[in-house]
Amino acid sequence: MDLFEYQARDLFEAHGVPVLPAEVVTEAADAGPAAERIGAASGGVVVVKAQVKVGGRGKAGGVKLAKSPEEAVEAAGQILGMDIKGHTVGAVMIAQGAKIAEEYYFSLLLDRANRSLLAMCSKEGGMDIETLAEERPEALAKVDVDANTGIDDAKARDILEQAGFDADEVTAIAPVLVSLWDVYKGEDATLVEVNPLVKTEDGAIIALDGKVSLDANADFRHPAHAELEDKASADPLEAKAKAMDLNYVKLDGNVGIIGNGAGLVMSTLDVVAYAGEDHTGGKASPANFLDIGGGASAEVMANGLDVILNDEQVKAVFVNVFGGITACDAVANGIVSALEILGDQATKPLVVRLDGNNVEEGRRILADANHPLVTVEETMDGAARKAAELAAAN
Ligand code: GDP
Ligand code: MN
Repeated sequence: MDLFEYQARDLFEAHGVPVLPAEVVTEAADAGPAAERIGAASGGVVVVKAQVKVGGRGKAGGVKLAKSPEEAVEAAGQILGMDIKGHTVGAVMIAQGAKIAEEYYFSLLLDRANRSLLAMCSKEGGMDIETLAEERPEALAKVDVDANTGIDDAKARDILEQAGFDADEVTAIAPVLVSLWDVYKGEDATLVEVNPLVKTEDGAIIALDGKVSLDANADFRHPAHAELEDKASADPLEAKAKAMDLNYVKLDGNVGIIGNGAGLVMSTLDVVAYAGEDHTGGKASPANFLDIGGGASAEVMANGLDVILNDEQVKAVFVNVFGGITACDAVANGIVSALEILGDQATKPLVVRLDGNNVEEGRRILADANHPLVTVEETMDGAARKAAELAAAN
């Protein structure tokens, strides 16, 4: 889960990373009083910043300096409602103005390719880091970080020296990197990025803009993270699936997919995509990823079907189950009762492919139920083709 800047700022503050005072408002008029409070210690100067989960807000006009409460209201009025790369601004952060002497870059991320953590650091922050990495790679230090030892003072110094900071700067910045490690580890993040990390005119080091992504697999350790979720812009079907504990990802095709086991579901997506190309001229493709897991009880099947059938783009559903510990007869009973539970809500054709443990009994149960919406296919390819054809025709 990616966080808004203000949420990253709050986590930074909680872990001792130096940040500036700030408040979030959603109405332009509220920017005035906020600017009055926040700007009191900075000669009235505040920065009004769009809160959207996308980079390059500055260039897009989403970051404005204001020298008075009136200017803050004006800036907030301009920024609220603005579209930045497809994201509508619903809130702005009023942050204390900083007198910036230098802008640096620091990030720590999960480097999956190297099965390691990676710190990136540069004396040239502020600008778009992808551009820096491309045009002046020598200015961006990349340093492996061992997840077991993390960033202690010595490691922080190592990173900063590799980025070319002088001795005084290394001493000033190292504690901030150690605190950022504390954010990364303590919150189970997969990304902590500060751009810019600034040195102010009086020599203070401050994280002026933060980006944090949290690892959803560690949510169970962080009940407080639930509040960070942006419910307003979450996909309603994904939110519903999440509430039911289903592993669901919305895609933009028209064949709903349900399977048991992530690997089987992923290969089902491939097979349906190919069938859509080969047999419908590209008119059918997967509408979602949905793994109902090992259990595949009637209730879970009903929940899964409920989510998929509520997707207006879905024209046909492919249920692909390999019976293992949960045998095919249990899954078949699950499908039959799920259709009973859903009643009139089940309106789209279902193609079912069952294989594995107790497959004969599973197929018999489906044949006996003889549900008008259900077609049973013996093979995965056959079922994918059938589902694609039904979706393309509907
Ligand atoms: P981004 O464009 O989305 O990355 O937004 P940032 O928060 O990084 O802001 C963009 C740029 O605005 C920074 O690199 C700074 O140059 C400038 N900026 C942000 N906050 C302040 C501030 O408090 N004072 C001054 N003078 N400039 C700021
Ligand atoms: Mn930035």
